[in-house]
Amino acid sequence: MVTTAVQGKNYIGGKWAPATTGQTFEDRNPADTRDLLGTFPRSGAEDAARAVAAARQAYPSWKRLALIRRAEVLDRFVQLVKADTEELARLLARENGKALSEARADVVEGLHMAQYWFGRARTPWGEVVASEIAGKTSFVHRKPKGVVVAISPWNFPFAIPLWLICPSLVAGNTVVFKPAEETPLIAQRLVEHLEKAGLPPGVLNLVHGLGEEAGWPLVTHPDVDVVLFTGSAEVGGMIKAECARDYRKFAVCEMGGKNAMIVFDDADFDLAVDAALLSAFRTAGQRCVSAERLIIQEGIFDRFVQAFVEGAKRLVIGDPQDEGTFMGPLVSQAAVEKVESYNALAAREGAKVLLPGGRLTAGAFAHGYFMSPFVYTMRHDPKARVLREEVFGPHVALIPFKELEEAVRIYNDTEYGFSLAVCSSDYRKINAVQEECEFGVGYVNLPTIGAEVHLPFGGIKKSGTGMPSASALLDAVTHQVAWTVNYERKIQLAQGLKAAVR
Ligand code: NAD
Repeated sequence: MVTTAVQGKNYIGGKWAPATTGQTFEDRNPADTRDLLGTFPRSGAEDAARAVAAARQAYPSWKRLALIRRAEVLDRFVQLVKADTEELARLLARENGKALSEARADVVEGLHMAQYWFGRARTPWGEVVASEIAGKTSFVHRKPKGVVVAISPWNFPFAIPLWLICPSLVAGNTVVFKPAEETPLIAQRLVEHLEKAGLPPGVLNLVHGLGEEAGWPLVTHPDVDVVLFTGSAEVGGMIKAECARDYRKFAVCEMGGKNAMIVFDDADFDLAVDAALLSAFRTAGQRCVSAERLIIQEGIFDRFVQAFVEGAKRLVIGDPQDEGTFMGPLVSQAAVEKVESYNALAAREGAKVLLPGGRLTAGAFAHGYFMSPFVYTMRHDPKARVLREEVFGPHVALIPFKELEEAVRIYNDTEYGFSLAVCSSDYRKINAVQEECEFGVGYVNLPTIGAEVHLPFGGIKKSGTGMPSASALLDAVTHQVAWTVNYERKIQLAQGLKAAVR
C-alpha cells in the first residue's frame, strides 16, 4: 500500500494547528508497523486549556441555536459519511487492526448514532407535570451543562466518540474530544466530516495526544462541566475520583469487563459453539464485551471443549484488509505483552492449556502484532486472578459447572459486571440467569457481543457508572430544571404552606 503519511493537527476554535509543545507521536498500522499512517500532535496542558477556552467561548451562541437546527448538522454529517463509508472503514481497519467487516460495522454504528440524535431532536425534550394546586403547572426543561470533555478508546474509534459527542452537541453543549492515541487519524476524519457538515468554530474541538499529557489536563480543568469517558477501569477509576472532588463536575465512566457465556446441557450445541467463538475471538478478543470465560455444564463439557478448540484452530488470522480475515492483530506491543503475561499467569494458576496461543512472527505476520488463540480449561477458583481480571485479547477459559446456582456464582465472581450470554432451550433457566447475574448487557442464544444504538450498552460494578444508554447520556449532559408557573393572581403553595405574609 503506497500512501503518504498524514501530518495530523489539533482542531481548536475552528483552526487546524500543531501542538504548542512542538512534539508529535507516530501512528502505525498494527498489522504492519512499517506502514506509517501519520504523525500527530503530542499535546499538553496548554493545548487542553486552549481547547476548553474555545469551547467555552462558542457555548453561548451554540446553546441559543434551536435544538432542531443543532441536530441538523448531524443529518448533513450522515450524508457525508455515507458517501465515504468504505474509505473510512478501510482506514479504520488499517489503523486499529480490526477485520474489514467489523470496521464497516464500526462506521455504520456511528452513523446510526448520528441518525438517532438527528431524529431524537424532534421528539419531546421535556415534560409537563401536574401541580397539586389548581392554577399552577410545572414543566421539566432540559438545559445544557456547558463544556463536555469526551475521552474515547481505540477499539471502536468511530462509533464510541459519536456515542459521546452526538448527545452532547444536540443538547447544546460544546465539546473537547480527546481520542485514543492508537487511532488519531480516524478521529481526525470524524471531526473533518463534522466540520464540513457545518459545525461552527469552537463547538467541537479536537486535542490529540497521550492520556496523561493531553487527557488528564482536560479532566482536571476547572472550566469543564462534564467528563464522558470510555476506556479501562484503571483510568476510569482515576477520573471518577478526580471529578468527585469537584462540586460541579459530572463524570460518566464506561469501562471494561470479564464477560462470560453460560451454556447449559440443553443448549443448541452448534449455535452455542459458534456463539462462543464469536464472543471470544471477534476483534481478537479486544471488545469490552468479549468473553474470556465460557461456563459450560458438565454433561456437554468435554464435547464442547473439543468442538470449540477445533473451531478456534480454523479461525483465519490475517491482514484486516482481506475480506476473508476473521481476526486481525492486537493493537500494540503493550497489548501483546499484556496478553502474554496473562497466558503465563493462567499456566501458573493451574490452567490446563489446550491451545498455547502466543505471538505469530512468521511470513506475513513478521511486522505486526498478531497472536493466535490461547484456550484452556480450569475449575473455578475464586483466588485465580486470570479468571477475574480483564485480559483484552484472544485468551479464554472453559470452566465446568454442575447446577444453575453454581453457574451464577461463577459468573458473578468478578469485580466487573458487563456482558452475559446464556445458551439454553429452557426459559426457566434463562430467566433465572437474567434475574441472578450481575450484568449490563445480556444475550440469549447469542454471543456476548453486539450493540444497537437505541439500547443501553454498558455495565455495572467496576464496568461502569450505569449510565450507558443514549438516553442516560442525555441526562448526563443536561440539567433537568423544574419550571413552575402560576396562572392565578394569588400565591398558593404546596403542602398547605400558608402564603400570607401580613
Ligand atoms: P485506556 O483507559 O487506556 O484509554 C482510553 C482513553 O483514555 C484514551 O483516549 C487514553 O488516551 C485516555 N487516557 C489514558 N490515561 C488517561 C489519563 N490519565 N487521563 C485522561 N485520559 C487518559 O483504554 P484503551 O486501552 O484505549 O481501551 C480499552 C479499554 O476500554 C478496555 O478496558 C475496554 O474494556 C474498555 N472499553 C469499554 C467500553 C464500554 O462501552 N464500556 C467500550 C470500549 C472499550
